[in-house]
Amino acid sequence: MPTIAQQFGMEEALAQLGVKAINDGTSTGNEWFSNGELIESYSPVDGQLIGKVRATTAADYERVMESATKAFKTFRTMPAPQRGEIVRQFGNKLRELKEPLGKLVSYEMGKSLQEGYGEVQEMIDICDFAVGLSRQLNGQTIPSERPKHVMREQWHSIGVVGIISAFNFPVAVWSWNTALAWICGDVCVWKASEKAPLCSIACQNIIAGILKDNNLPEGISCIINGDYKVGEMMTTDVRIPLISATGSTRMGRIVGTTVAQRFGKSLLELGGNNAIIITPTADLKVVVPGAVFGAVGTAGQRCTSTRRLIIHESVYDKVRDAIVGAYKQLTIGNPLDQKNHIGPLIDKDAVNTYLAAIEKAKAEGGKVLVDGGVLSGEGYESGCYVKPAIIEAENHFEIVQHETFAPVLYLMKYSGDVENAIDLQNGVAQGLSSAIMTNDLKEAEKFLSFSGSDCGIANVNIGTSGAEIGGAFGGEKETGGGRESGSDAWKIYMRRQTNTVNYSDELPLAQGIKFDL
Ligand code: NAD
Repeated sequence: MPTIAQQFGMEEALAQLGVKAINDGTSTGNEWFSNGELIESYSPVDGQLIGKVRATTAADYERVMESATKAFKTFRTMPAPQRGEIVRQFGNKLRELKEPLGKLVSYEMGKSLQEGYGEVQEMIDICDFAVGLSRQLNGQTIPSERPKHVMREQWHSIGVVGIISAFNFPVAVWSWNTALAWICGDVCVWKASEKAPLCSIACQNIIAGILKDNNLPEGISCIINGDYKVGEMMTTDVRIPLISATGSTRMGRIVGTTVAQRFGKSLLELGGNNAIIITPTADLKVVVPGAVFGAVGTAGQRCTSTRRLIIHESVYDKVRDAIVGAYKQLTIGNPLDQKNHIGPLIDKDAVNTYLAAIEKAKAEGGKVLVDGGVLSGEGYESGCYVKPAIIEAENHFEIVQHETFAPVLYLMKYSGDVENAIDLQNGVAQGLSSAIMTNDLKEAEKFLSFSGSDCGIANVNIGTSGAEIGGAFGGEKETGGGRESGSDAWKIYMRRQTNTVNYSDELPLAQGIKFDL
């Protein structure tokens, strides 16, 4: 019987990506070195060891920073459209390697193969976006109040960008940051998640080849590996003006404070507690797939996963029955096999957190509609496969107020106007993604208005998860306030400078102030 890895050609995929059994986890591009302990990467799909990555030590980190700070001085002088050309080549290489990289994402992280490919597609999309943007890093000309004066705004490269990423998007988050940072003239140091380190080796190999082919120096793309202590080397380092950190709110609180203390900038992409409001006019054909995919896709391990359904009492029974019915059709198993809807959680700690959440919800008075539990037996040997659960709950329950990074969906009722549902939707500490299902224009517009959803993402007749790269991505409140990817998110990777030029023969002061000598 072939193993899952053999069945899906993992050996070939790893070879194509240059991922070995034991890898150095520190790199400045084409140079690899590392003197720390070995991190073992086990697949949550079948519990098998995929490979090992040597962690970064303080001395390794110093070598990376020397290389990165040196590279920045030359990279920023390269015209932005030429930097865009590098990113274009990177996107093309990703097109060629979409299959092996998508497989590695799926096997190392546990998301479905389709989602693994989707994640690589997001990388390609952001590269395309960044290429166009490399000719549009425009400042403005501003009318001056003084005669024969010109005011303008320019955007300059910021320096070394530190990227800290979460396990659940082990490659896309890196590219959302790097594609933009590179066209902006910055160099990047990436600390990957210790739960998916092999993905970082693969990504670095891809970009290193491009940089070499273009005779670019070491230091433009660097990776470091290890746990939070390696992350701290960057957050405390004054040589890094911007830290982009994706992960839990717990992590963001520490990282945000540390970076702020040294007056660095941080871009925080943290946890969500996303809800869909289902109104009386909602179309069940849209509601059911939107809510079910949102809640169980990636086994509930997306920052935008649907955690709460806020359903109008007049349609509550009908919606509840339809969702519970749909859950009965879900198949759980090997995510590389396309017949399965749900793969594993990342590890056994995540399984324990999931089990504890269900117990807590019950203890607080929640009513279980679809029971959870851990699957065992053939195909579930990793111990990371769980059943998605649905629990009737109240918004104020402590457990509902927290993000549980697993497929646990809370159903709750609202009565009266949509404003009551919006209050519930906003009545949590997080503010990432939100949605309303309605065919009532007024309800939709209220939801999107200044007194509507308080989230960074607010959708109508679409679920909470699955954003496109063209929009700015991120959320408010405990989600951290950062925005990355599309729209004008590029501005965080640059520093703004206001220039005033006097082409007269006098020196008039602003605000009409006189200073005669
Ligand atoms: P995590 O917070 O445990 O770890 C994320 C990263 O932060 C890891 O690389 C980790 O090593 C590092 N880290 C942790 N503590 C640190 C510290 N004190 N200093 C420096 N680095 C530190 O998160 P996770 O379990 O990998 O990912 C799941 C979480 O990420 C969820 O809360 C999810 O909502 C969130 N997430 C948010 C977004 C978003 O865009 N808003 C996207 C993906 C994931």
